[in-house]
Amino acid sequence: MTSTALIKRILLLLLCATLLLCGCGQKKETSLTKTVYAMDTLMTLMATGTRAQEALSAAETELFRLDALMNRHSETGEVARLNREGTLQNAELAALTARALLLSENTNGAFDCTLAPLIDSWNIAGGGRVPSEEELSGLLPLIGASLVKAEGDTITLAPGTQLDLGALGKGYAGERVREIYTQYGVTGSISLGGDNCLVGPKSAESPLWRVGLKKPGSAEEIVGVLSVTDTFTVTSGSYERYFTAADGHTYHHILDPSTGYPAENGLVSVTVLAYDGVQADALATAFFVMGAEKTATWLQNHSEVCAILITTSGKVLYSRALEGSFEPRAEEYTFEAF
Ligand code: AMP
Ligand code: MG
Repeated sequence: MTSTALIKRILLLLLCATLLLCGCGQKKETSLTKTVYAMDTLMTLMATGTRAQEALSAAETELFRLDALMNRHSETGEVARLNREGTLQNAELAALTARALLLSENTNGAFDCTLAPLIDSWNIAGGGRVPSEEELSGLLPLIGASLVKAEGDTITLAPGTQLDLGALGKGYAGERVREIYTQYGVTGSISLGGDNCLVGPKSAESPLWRVGLKKPGSAEEIVGVLSVTDTFTVTSGSYERYFTAADGHTYHHILDPSTGYPAENGLVSVTVLAYDGVQADALATAFFVMGAEKTATWLQNHSEVCAILITTSGKVLYSRALEGSFEPRAEEYTFEAF
């Protein structure tokens, strides 16, 4: 090999090494999925971006933190401590409690974060029991948003009152994961059991995500399909948790705070669409308690929220604003915009 040929070869090798190094520095966009079991729910997180892996690990850590923070049954949890001691200093929980109290006020008490004594009495998670009327009326004085104060970073409960964030916890967790996605510059979906949060476009070619609205009680069949993005879709239904008592009557888990009994007003399922996760989660529960008529009135003054209600008689009532993005898909139901 001549010295010119040798120099040429060295230069070529250097060029290859430089190209290789540049290639390593440029991260490739990937789509990754992670399954997390938290808040008694199997969650599936999907993220697309160059930092998808980091985003998903951070999201998992955050979901475990939030589970521990909000679970009132975890001895070491902060909500459990608040319920034991009656007062707690925690800026994050105080801010979330303040949002819960506002939602209670906005739904005229249909959403209520103080139902823990009633929830424990019905014990639906443990198989269920029907409390006596005396037992329920004895517990009602412990219930009500006015018995909770959330000021600054401090929460205070009236004696005997307990905080339960079960009806909005997943919405809050979804919001936090969405913040993490944004921080890492990724798009994707956050599936929290039957609830979803969609972040950014699905792909450059088809930006909208297609979300199947499940037929109540069915794992596979759907009532319709939503084409949406940058929104939460949260569903509350009587078929999600229930038990059948010795008298043959079925009791489910969404309680009417004014009576202490499961809400019975002709609805089987409520799906709420909103950008605000806490609001979407709490409202799905609240609308179930309020029933179709009051929900329709509520929605007239809140264009930031849409809903789809399924009645026991097989009617699907959906916000008129969803026309074009909600596609009916079940012949045995009748569909009506409101
Ligand atoms: P979700 O699945 O979001 O509708 O939340 C329902 C859970 O929240 C129930 O299993 C109870 O633990 C609790 N809950 C039931 N009824 C209400 C209500 N009216 N307001 C707030 N939380 C409720
Ligand atoms: Mg809810």
